[in-house]
Amino acid sequence: MPEYDADLLVIGAGPAGLTAAQYGARANLKVLVIEQLAPGGQVLLIDVPENYPANIQYQNDMGIKIPPRTGFELARDMHDQAETFGAVFLSDTVSEIKKEGDIFTAVLTGGDPLKAPAVIMATGAEHRSLGVPGEKELTGRGVSYCATCDGPFFKNKKIIVIGGGDAACDEAQYLSRLSPHVVLVHRRDRFRAQKALAERVMRNPNIDIRFNTVVKEIKGEPAAGPIQRVSSVVFERSIGGGSEKNEESADVIFIFAGTLPRSSQVSSLGTKLDESGYIITDHKMASSVPGLYAAGDVRSGTFRQIVVAAGEGAVAAHNAAEYIDRLRGATYG
Ligand code: NAP
Repeated sequence: MPEYDADLLVIGAGPAGLTAAQYGARANLKVLVIEQLAPGGQVLLIDVPENYPANIQYQNDMGIKIPPRTGFELARDMHDQAETFGAVFLSDTVSEIKKEGDIFTAVLTGGDPLKAPAVIMATGAEHRSLGVPGEKELTGRGVSYCATCDGPFFKNKKIIVIGGGDAACDEAQYLSRLSPHVVLVHRRDRFRAQKALAERVMRNPNIDIRFNTVVKEIKGEPAAGPIQRVSSVVFERSIGGGSEKNEESADVIFIFAGTLPRSSQVSSLGTKLDESGYIITDHKMASSVPGLYAAGDVRSGTFRQIVVAAGEGAVAAHNAAEYIDRLRGATYG
């Protein structure tokens, strides 16, 4: 086999990548994890992942109540665990993955290209924007996609949350602890979010829910000034066969309109993607390209949960290890 830098390249260090790295390292592979931001991925944006197994408050032997871990703490511990077992982390951006013979090359924007016989794509997905006037211009000035990052700046302020999925409902719940003036706006007449979560949101006295409503424009103040901040949002609500517009004052608008896959790096390999661009795999997390695996939010058809991403990362690493053994003629049994 030609020279290479690692047995396994893991692209992305969210729960899928971190778990893949841990399992790969424990399988005695030389694992390199390449992450463009901080390890943790979208978990870093979650206040408390309350549905991650065992992540509940408990009382220790001394009677002290230990709170559940925050998203930040969970991500930190997953990273430290992978590193303890020998995975090596690199901070860089992978712009493309190529393959020649049995060897993949990850092209980096910062450093030299890296070669390995197997790759796990755990690049996740990024937020989808609404594409309405004012959104782009006012991002970071009252338009946000991260409640735990920006919420604390808006204590007791008028907070608008857009979306009807788990993210919008989870984050509206979190924001309702910072302010009693949260307005949750969804374009349909019911939530897409998991039932228990949606019901909790509907019972929350700090959250005012507006169904059948879409954002048409986000406005800033001062109207003509160079440094504007969000001041109001223009909505359109459908009623019966028609619709009505209204403008509502706001200090901040958090947008949770779903996600888009980060899979462009593998498109030149001819990897099979679904119609939305997510990577298609089999039950072993193997893509259509031998040696290329995908796990977590970038994978087509996945149930986008931390526990699922972690599980898929483990499955991908296990099967990547077997694939490498086969290449080396060292398969067990
Ligand atoms: P999602 O489930 O795809 O929900 C996106 C929401 O945004 C939908 O309600 C959608 O409306 C709405 N939307 C999309 N485009 C819009 C537009 N242009 N204007 C207005 N609304 C728009 O995405 P998500 O909530 O970000 O969650 C992503 C994945 O992560 C999901 O699989 C979710 O289960 C998972 N997740 C889980 C948890 C948890 O378990 N606690 C927390 C966060 C995320 P429609 O309903 O009409 O399509």
